[in-house]
Amino acid sequence: MIPLSPERKPALVPEPDIGAKRYFLWTIGCQMNEAESAKAGAMLRQAGYQPAHREDEADIIIVNSCVVRQQAEDKVAGKVGSLARLKRANPDIKIALTGCMVTKQEEALQKRFPHVDLFYGPSEFEKLTQLTPELGEIDVDLAELPHYYEDTENETGISAFVPIIYGCNFVCSYCIVPYRRGREISRPFNEIVNEVTEMASRGVKEVTLLGQTVNAYGHDLPGDVELSDLLLAVNDIDGIERIRFLTSHPKYFTDRLIDTMAACDKVCEHVNLPVQAGDNDVLRRMRRTYTVEHYRDRIQRIRDTIPGVTLSTDIIVGFPGETAEQFEGTMELLRDIRFEKVHQAMYSPRPGTLSARWEDEVPADEKKRRHQEIEKLQTEVSAELNQRHDGEVLEVLVDGKQRGRWRGRSRGNTLVFFDAPGDWLGQTVNVRVTEPMTWYLLGEIHEPARI
Ligand code: SAH
Ligand code: SF4
Repeated sequence: MIPLSPERKPALVPEPDIGAKRYFLWTIGCQMNEAESAKAGAMLRQAGYQPAHREDEADIIIVNSCVVRQQAEDKVAGKVGSLARLKRANPDIKIALTGCMVTKQEEALQKRFPHVDLFYGPSEFEKLTQLTPELGEIDVDLAELPHYYEDTENETGISAFVPIIYGCNFVCSYCIVPYRRGREISRPFNEIVNEVTEMASRGVKEVTLLGQTVNAYGHDLPGDVELSDLLLAVNDIDGIERIRFLTSHPKYFTDRLIDTMAACDKVCEHVNLPVQAGDNDVLRRMRRTYTVEHYRDRIQRIRDTIPGVTLSTDIIVGFPGETAEQFEGTMELLRDIRFEKVHQAMYSPRPGTLSARWEDEVPADEKKRRHQEIEKLQTEVSAELNQRHDGEVLEVLVDGKQRGRWRGRSRGNTLVFFDAPGDWLGQTVNVRVTEPMTWYLLGEIHEPARI
């Protein structure tokens, strides 16, 4: 998962009908949280609720939390704490807290946030009926609700996240995710294929298949089914134009998966493969179960097989005991591979994890220095890689409008903006890059790629 997106702003929300009950969603963290918030929103809409512009206009507020790092946890605590005032002013308002902060922590949280009406863990949607009797009244068949309805980021419904596997069977020594999301559970193959088919019929053009270790998909299912089989099946669904998947673990990035990516025309040429560190001793203490050599070999195989592929990764800086030399190993890896994007975070000890018991923490200012060093390198690399697109014509799927410009992504996952009259939402257009910036590209319409 891409770490820590900033909390989502409410999207373009239509004016609710007079008298309709309203909900407000506040979400932080990974794409899985976004997908689960969207599902909660869909359930509430089915029960007659409408989205609110602001939390003080809502009848029910759902806070979807993340605790992968202290910073995220602090933001959630701040948000939930601030809702106490609202609850005092309007005791009828219902507040629910969900996400990774909740798992096995309900008692402590009840004491800490007595103004919260309901705590429910990730995916425990049925508990929402305790707050919204309407869900029970209309006899919503919770099990049959599709897992994702629309893109929470822009509500345009062009691009959708589809959780395919929950939980994680790895035990990376720094990571709280397995403790809060449990062991891997893959969704049934046909259920996913049917859901994506249904999404396509409603106009969804791009799906991103989600899991903490998405390429462990199927390991717990009977038979030999794996992510490659799912990609092949989703590739055959009419109406779907693009397929992405997140987040992959280097251990399971098999030759078959790489060959399948290359063989499926709808699977985009982009791989997010978190390495976390560029030193074998650090990787061993992180319990990542692979070496730098294995990682480099996978990247080489990906690049040899998928022409024009773009790459992104996750890095943790300042892992306990990480020496300057070991950090240099990470820098060397980043300089060699030249990722389009690096999601980096300073190590944050998480209670209950193995590494939280280790004392040799890297001092905060040194962590910060390493963070800045990567940022400087990556700003240069990203700008240089984007520069290469100057004058190129890229296929862009338009998924929204931002500050008056049309916005979309290339197949390689680069953000592209262009100005043009007319309605391009949901269309795949050829855009000629006129001005490459560090983190995005500006361009002009070349011609519609498909009619
Ligand atoms: N399953 C994915 C990552 C899930 S957590 C993987 O294996 O890579 C998302 C990201 O948060 C991780 O890639 C890691 O870079 C970061 N992260 C997780 N725990 C962290 C911690 N304790 N401190 C700092 N960053 C952390
Ligand atoms: Fe956390 Fe490791 Fe699982 Fe990723 S693979 S979710 S980092 S335990």
